[in-house]
Amino acid sequence: MAKLAINGGTPVRTKLFPAYNTIGQEEKQAVMKVLDSGNLSQFLGAWHKDFYGGPTVQQFEKNWALAFESKYAISVNSNTSGLFTAIGALGIKPGDEVIVSPYTMSASALAPIIYGAVPVFADVDYDNFGLNPESIEKCITPRTKAILVVHIFGNPAKMDEIMAIAQKHNLYVIEDCAQAPMAKYKDRYVGTIGDIGIFSLNYHKHIHTGEGGVIITNNDTIAERSHLIRNHGENIIEPKGVENAFNTFGYNFRMTEMEAAVGIEQLKKLPSLIDDRIINANFIANELGKIDGIIAPNIETFSKHVYYVQAFKFKKDIIGVDRNTFINAVKAEIPSAVLREDTPLIGAGYVKPIYLQPLYQQRATHCSFNCEKYKGTVDYSKGICPVTEKLHFEELFTHEYMRPGMSKTDMEDVVSAFNKVIENIDELKVATIKS
Ligand SMILES: *Cc1c(COP(=O)(O)O)cnc(C)c1O
Repeated sequence: MAKLAINGGTPVRTKLFPAYNTIGQEEKQAVMKVLDSGNLSQFLGAWHKDFYGGPTVQQFEKNWALAFESKYAISVNSNTSGLFTAIGALGIKPGDEVIVSPYTMSASALAPIIYGAVPVFADVDYDNFGLNPESIEKCITPRTKAILVVHIFGNPAKMDEIMAIAQKHNLYVIEDCAQAPMAKYKDRYVGTIGDIGIFSLNYHKHIHTGEGGVIITNNDTIAERSHLIRNHGENIIEPKGVENAFNTFGYNFRMTEMEAAVGIEQLKKLPSLIDDRIINANFIANELGKIDGIIAPNIETFSKHVYYVQAFKFKKDIIGVDRNTFINAVKAEIPSAVLREDTPLIGAGYVKPIYLQPLYQQRATHCSFNCEKYKGTVDYSKGICPVTEKLHFEELFTHEYMRPGMSKTDMEDVVSAFNKVIENIDELKVATIKS
């Protein structure tokens, strides 16, 4: 008789895990106040005091800048639009190259393409999954203008090494902090180390406003250009007397007053949500780390990892079956969560290395890598980032069972699922041979 649920045995648990829902009474009341005012947005695309948005948007930005120890915080309607703004604000243009990570949400690599520049993929670090400094160096050419770093999963990238490379070659550093709000690298919040940092307030993230994002910077010019790009800059440069008109056309990337009201309340909750994530992640890392062949994430003692997800490495040779077979067996033992009934909270790998997407494989754009101003030759072949490919296709798995709201018992069920699969691993070996 099979023991493992994937072979027809009884699962460890069928009761759904608790929802991750950070929205409460505070957000409800804050939104009601905005609704009562009748002003759901107060932006004006003209040189007027409302160019900077309404009172709630401006209060939210003030609070964010204070919390993240940054001179400016500029709200936008997503991290994606914030990344586009960053590329535009830094003056990146056709013919330029930007070094990006292949192991991140697709928008981080796409941002340079919006301004006609070329994303060049450096490999990730085998230990912390952010950009690997040596690999970055190998990607630098006379056309390189910036490094777009992602603090993936909530773990800070190797910023000292990356900033040293940027300084040596006179490059900008953009930090995609979508997964790492309040993560720290040597006592500094990520997002304040490079030239510009961008956060996400999408509903998948630590805290959210439904959709939304925030840009932070300490640089006056970058801040001014970001404001222009967010809000119809072409109308503003003349009356405001902005000298550099180049590429200062704007979009509409503005946040509403309702979202800002939610954001103000969510920001208050962020520190304690992060504390809970760290406590839970440490428990799971400690328990799963006891399994020979499962390796807990490496965190530098000077870094604060804020666990958007928790990533582990899986050693097939020690465990005796491949990662996908193993993770599928774990998935069968434990359910998903309330609000996410159809989506498992654990997965083999993360996202497919970005250069393998059709956009890059087919070079399907008018400009960027097809632009006549581009004098380089960029490679998007399979194999260019061997560490990323090994992690994604063979070794890495990620889970979200460390989310606040998970009780000790909930997490013990997760650990039991792993231990049960290990104890009955022979059942999977038989299955592997049969298939
Ligand atoms: C979620 C995410 C984004 C996109 O954020 P949106 O606010 O949904 O546009 C970009 N980069 C990374 C690393 C992300 O995790």
